[in-house]
Amino acid sequence: MSGNKGVAYLEPGTVEVRTTDYPTFEIKDGPGVASENIGRRCRHGVILKVLATNICGSDQHMVRGRTTAPAGLVLGHEITGEVVERGPDVEFIDIGDVVSVPFNIACGRCRNCKERKTGICLNVNPARPGAAYGYVDMGGWVGGQAEYVMVPYADFNLLKFPDPDEAREKLLDLTMLSDIFPTGFHGAVTAGTTVGSTVYVAGAGPVGLAAAAAAQLLGAAVVIVGDLNTERLAQARSFGCETVDVSQGSIEEQIAQILGEPEVDAAVDAVGFEARAHGPDAGEAPATVLNSLMSITHAGGALGIPGLYVTDDPGGVDEDARTGTLKVRLGLGWAKSHRFTTGQCPVMKYHRGLMKAILHGRVHIAKAVGATVIGLDDAPRGYTEFDRGASRKYVLNPHGALDTVQPV
Ligand code: NAD
Ligand code: ZN
Ligand code: ZN
Repeated sequence: MSGNKGVAYLEPGTVEVRTTDYPTFEIKDGPGVASENIGRRCRHGVILKVLATNICGSDQHMVRGRTTAPAGLVLGHEITGEVVERGPDVEFIDIGDVVSVPFNIACGRCRNCKERKTGICLNVNPARPGAAYGYVDMGGWVGGQAEYVMVPYADFNLLKFPDPDEAREKLLDLTMLSDIFPTGFHGAVTAGTTVGSTVYVAGAGPVGLAAAAAAQLLGAAVVIVGDLNTERLAQARSFGCETVDVSQGSIEEQIAQILGEPEVDAAVDAVGFEARAHGPDAGEAPATVLNSLMSITHAGGALGIPGLYVTDDPGGVDEDARTGTLKVRLGLGWAKSHRFTTGQCPVMKYHRGLMKAILHGRVHIAKAVGATVIGLDDAPRGYTEFDRGASRKYVLNPHGALDTVQPV
């Protein structure tokens, strides 16, 4: 048996790489683990040697102290790995397979899983529907920003790459299949993006950039990305997007300058509850993006909302925001017959198709999101730089599998 090492959340602003337990096929007590889950057997699980695991904006909400994440939680829900052990009930995944792990943990047996709503599985988190690795309120499953991790319900959850050697060569792109590429794609799809659409994506972080690349893949005529971070806006322009700087005044006017009209067909919120108000030096205003998307989206259009909204935010701007109660102008969206799609992206719905798009060179997702490889021990630096707004998607490399890998 090997040892293990993982990235743990300690307190707001601090993560630490520490020695952790090597995974087993049984859930042990630990930070965030519901008492009902302690001792639960996972004979259907596998243990992965983690080949690539990414830092996400969702992790940052926890590390900034904007959630009720418990100290000591081992982080990491974006995992690609090689199977090194399999539980006795695993039938179709073998040792040596290279696999992508959807960040949603799903049983494959409940009503929601049967309807492919794997983001809200009913059997993996005693506290609420839906679970994820290394995430607050998500069942206490140990995260994968680590050398090794256990993945339950392996036959159902895992996407096995057809050729492990090819998967290793294209790992820097394929690592985006565990979350942000499907999530961005889900945002674009649920916003109604199709051939010829005009699309506005709020947020030029990795999810926003992935949504923009996804909108292009879906045939959008024009993709406009909005942010206040000029480096991230430049990244969006690097692969053919138009941009709007939301700190420079009205987004309607800026969109009108690009499109000749102040409206788009489809809009994606890739920002979430830590949204900044528009205009220069604006502070946090959690409903800004939702309200502005309703203003700029054509009547009859849709809003894809992968951006995260929480039920408890200790750092919320006011008492309402601290319980996730926002001043959303629903009347406007209602008047325009808008459709809204929220929630965790059900990764499994999209990951196989997007894998093929990567393997056949139809999309360059690692380049689009600025994939940047760092060592597992450098995770604290990655968290700090990402928090400062670096236009990068940090990919941790626990076993050196990414040492020589380039974007496709
Ligand atoms: P990120 O923090 O890197 O990016 C957010 C970006 O939004 C930042 O660049 C910020 O400057 C920008 N921003 C702030 N206010 C804005 C405004 N008013 N208009 C436009 N841009 C604004 O995070 P990320 O990794 O790109 O993730 C984005 C969101 O998606 C997060 O909330 C994350 O938790 C969420 N997420 C959801 C899912 C899901 O399944 N639904 C999956 C992954 C991530
Ligand atoms: Zn993520
Ligand atoms: Zn289920």
